[in-house]
Amino acid sequence: MGMTYIPSALSEALQLRAGTGARPLAGGTDMMVQAKRGIGLAPEFPYPVMIISGLDELKGIKAREDGTVEIGALSTPAEIAASPLVPWHVRMAAAGMGAVALRNSATIGGNIGNASPKGDLPQPLILLEAEVILVSMHGEKKMLLDDFILGSKKTALRDDELIKSILIPPHSFTYSYYRKIGMRRANAISKLSLSAAAVVKDGEIVDFRAASGAAGPKVIRSHEAEAMIKGHRTEEIPDILDGFLAAWDGAISPHAMPVYRRNTTKRMLSFFLESIFNGSEPGIIGGEV
Ligand SMILES: Cc1cc2nc3c(=O)[nH]c(=O)nc-3n(C[C@H](O)[C@H](O)[C@H](O)COP(=O)(O)OP(=O)(O)OC[C@H]3O[C@@H](n4cnc5c(N)ncnc54)[C@H](O)[C@@H]3O)c2cc1C
Repeated sequence: MGMTYIPSALSEALQLRAGTGARPLAGGTDMMVQAKRGIGLAPEFPYPVMIISGLDELKGIKAREDGTVEIGALSTPAEIAASPLVPWHVRMAAAGMGAVALRNSATIGGNIGNASPKGDLPQPLILLEAEVILVSMHGEKKMLLDDFILGSKKTALRDDELIKSILIPPHSFTYSYYRKIGMRRANAISKLSLSAAAVVKDGEIVDFRAASGAAGPKVIRSHEAEAMIKGHRTEEIPDILDGFLAAWDGAISPHAMPVYRRNTTKRMLSFFLESIFNGSEPGIIGGEV
């Protein structure tokens, strides 16, 4: 069994991390499950662990002057869902995670650090081109979240680093869409999820983005498929929809996405784009699939 450390300040945690390689445990909702040993037995970690839940430097949600939102790594889904500073897509994903107890103990740093293809927060964060701030004894560095998550359960985190916070650049979408599909309404791991967003100016789609969760080893965003929509006028949507859907289908993993899931993803994307074509009121595009 490995040692357990409980640092009380970030500087102490970084020294421990560099010196022992101890794995950070934030909410523990992934790590405790991974280390479980059976009924009545406390989980045991075969490696050193440090409990980081007391580190104030990793807490809080702030807006910077330029509109960038910084979410501390220890922020819980409940805090994120309740914060008016956090962009809508991310609040929706946080609100749909687990059940109440989980939403009050899990953290955004843990969701990203775990890098499960089924994790709910990376999907809208990658749509919004969020960055992670990584901190070590040598200082801080920034990386696009899409580059930080390398694949299923794999990140670019070094043994001496911690995730400090997540930065979301400012944006303003004309239309937004978010949907998570699980087995049931609460406490369900995503079977698939989708975020989409568009900026329409004077009838032209000047920005269009989509991100699929649980659709492969990591969140899927296809800049090639997005480019098939961008620059077109909304009245051209029926002409370009099929080509776009085929390109999106080609981007998602056939292994992770059997036919019914691919079809559901196509229906969600069609619904979003057709709503724009039909002149929906700007704002959130909702509704059943
Ligand atoms: C019943 C149940 C339901 C669940 N439902 C959902 C769901 O609906 N959606 C979903 O996305 N997930 C779900 N999960 C999975 C889990 O709760 C989330 O992934 C959660 O966000 C993990 O956060 P945590 O703080 O508990 O992570 P931890 O278990 O503490 O850590 C997870 C990983 O991240 C690393 N880590 C944690 N913090 C940092 C940091 N600051 N810097 C570097 N590395 C770090 C750890 O070392 C570890 O590798 C569920 C889990 C359970 C048990």
